[in-house]
Amino acid sequence: MSPRQALHAGALLTVDLDAICDNWRKLRARLAGAQCAAVVKADAYGLGALKVAPALYRAGCRHFFVAHLDEALELRSALPSDAILYVLHGPLPGSEGEFVAHRIVPVLNSLPQLAAWRALVRRLDRYLPAVLQVDTGMARLGLSARELDPVRVDREALRGIELRFVMSHLASAEDPTNPLNRLQLERFESALGRLPRTRASLANSSGIFLGPDYHFDLVRPGAALYGVAPVAGEPNPMRPAIRLQAKVVQTRTIEAGTPVGYGHSWTAEKRSRIATVAVGYADGYLRSLGNRGHVGFDGAKLPVVGKVSMDTILVDVTALGENAIHEGSLVDISGPGIGVDEIAAGAGTIGYEILTSLGNRYARTYVDAETSSESSMRLRSGSRT
Ligand SMILES: *Cc1c(COP(=O)(O)O)cnc(C)c1O
Repeated sequence: MSPRQALHAGALLTVDLDAICDNWRKLRARLAGAQCAAVVKADAYGLGALKVAPALYRAGCRHFFVAHLDEALELRSALPSDAILYVLHGPLPGSEGEFVAHRIVPVLNSLPQLAAWRALVRRLDRYLPAVLQVDTGMARLGLSARELDPVRVDREALRGIELRFVMSHLASAEDPTNPLNRLQLERFESALGRLPRTRASLANSSGIFLGPDYHFDLVRPGAALYGVAPVAGEPNPMRPAIRLQAKVVQTRTIEAGTPVGYGHSWTAEKRSRIATVAVGYADGYLRSLGNRGHVGFDGAKLPVVGKVSMDTILVDVTALGENAIHEGSLVDISGPGIGVDEIAAGAGTIGYEILTSLGNRYARTYVDAETSSESSMRLRSGSRT
């Protein structure tokens, strides 16, 4: 990061590409025969797909999943040609040709998507690759069990389609005690039995931890790569992928009885020292963290008091003593002892939403010891020019 960026930014986001690659290797080590993909949709869960995907490629990853065609197009030129890009939403009507032109593999989720892909096969008179998704209990994307029958009966339905995988998605994999996992597994196996023999993919991050029955030929982790805990209620085996720090803009001492922030939702019970810190809900520090969140400083955990503003939070730093913290001091929003899952728990959400909400005001630094480079950017969009 340039000195100017470090000087001007209110908050700093450090993305640890080595930790992300380590996490990918750690997940891969749990597999026997299956391959390990990486889900890099939504800009790699907010952390920067153009940095994350090439780093994972260098670590050995060859299968990359995004949600939208445009996300795949952006990655196509950032990755070597043997990287395989899959679009989870499949082709929206009219976009099929783009998939062929840029060698992007669609996930076909519905009979209309299947028909459109078949029509393109006939028009171009060549084999075209695709993944077929079946729904096993989310009612979100994929053919239902009933829709699978005509596909099975109609020998033309898949003709000309080079079926790379049949896939499905788990609804509650983070809870290993949920019987839905086993039910979805059985439904998936039954669907596979009704389709031409092909490779299969079921597990997301959490699904990998359900055991080898769930691994099939390809697993599709996202969140765990970025440090989110894959199994609810168990210690997190993943390395944190980010550190978030924000600067103190102002400090003040207030007397007992002084209310703070919008709506006066907190009032000092005693003489208190308050720091105004440059991170707010516009930076993904969710408003629900008002009077609930904590920040770290020098080993101490300090409470967020009052409501979260768009650009600032107020932190009670009384415990630190008069001069420990001052204008320009950096506090940890997420760092040692404050993981994204902990922030999420305080906000009543999940680590996924914390990561994808970060926004683009942070001065970003990417740590990448493997290529011994450290690079930064002020804005995410700046990285794309
Ligand atoms: C987002 C997504 C994943 C990755 O899920 P994580 O829980 O982040 O590991 C895998 N498969 C599909 C279909 C998805 O939509």
